[in-house]
Amino acid sequence: MSAGAAETRTFLCRSDNVGVLIHDPRTGACAAIDVPEAGPVLRALDETGWRLTDILVTHRHGDHIEGIPEVRRATGARLTAPEKAREAVPDADVYVREGDRVRVGALEAEVWETPGHCLDHVTYWFSGAEIVFAGDTLFTLGCGRVMESPPETLWRSLQRFDALPDATQVFSGHDYVLSNARFARAVEPGNAALEARAAEAERARTEGRFLVPSTMGAERDANPFLRVREPTVAHAVDLPAGGDPAAVFVALRAWKNRF
Ligand SMILES: [Zn+2]
Repeated sequence: MSAGAAETRTFLCRSDNVGVLIHDPRTGACAAIDVPEAGPVLRALDETGWRLTDILVTHRHGDHIEGIPEVRRATGARLTAPEKAREAVPDADVYVREGDRVRVGALEAEVWETPGHCLDHVTYWFSGAEIVFAGDTLFTLGCGRVMESPPETLWRSLQRFDALPDATQVFSGHDYVLSNARFARAVEPGNAALEARAAEAERARTEGRFLVPSTMGAERDANPFLRVREPTVAHAVDLPAGGDPAAVFVALRAWKNRF
């Protein structure tokens, strides 16, 4: 698919990781966002004919970085990783932190530090292409698990996504859409947009597709973690409507852990 000048390709890695390439047709530059597994990334490069110039790491977890050495050997791609993941990714060419800019050919991303899933997590926001690489922060119909910090930290990170335009394409690091849809429907059984999205997820699964990318507009309509200001969502976790949205988020995240 293409968005503005950028082309993207998604493919499954491991059991539920989403591999993704972003390609700049003007310069031929191409980046892999994380490398969960080398084989599928190299295959996708083969199929597209794209030449990998960059690897952008979102966070240090093994299922996002394990394929890096092999893909780097095969392609010579430049490796960009979060400064806070330096210990786990000791051989990056570039380390990035909040506010840094990353170029993939003529495409440019702003780096956001988005802790919550883990402390070193960063997000790459390609504003010109309206594409955001969310890693394990925001998922289609869900959000990441909370580790290493209080859940409010992830809530604050998600607020930054919530400020993005509706048309923004959101690429997340895993395909958890079916289980996320089950949980979302338990939270908001009367949400028509969610029902349509859940049906779409079922259809996609039978056709061997997954719902990545999503869009910010679709997520705002159906993802309970972005809908904590809705009275029905607050009531679903026994909190009053119009209260502290972060408290609703925390209760919702705890419920999902038990779900
Ligand atoms: Zn992770």
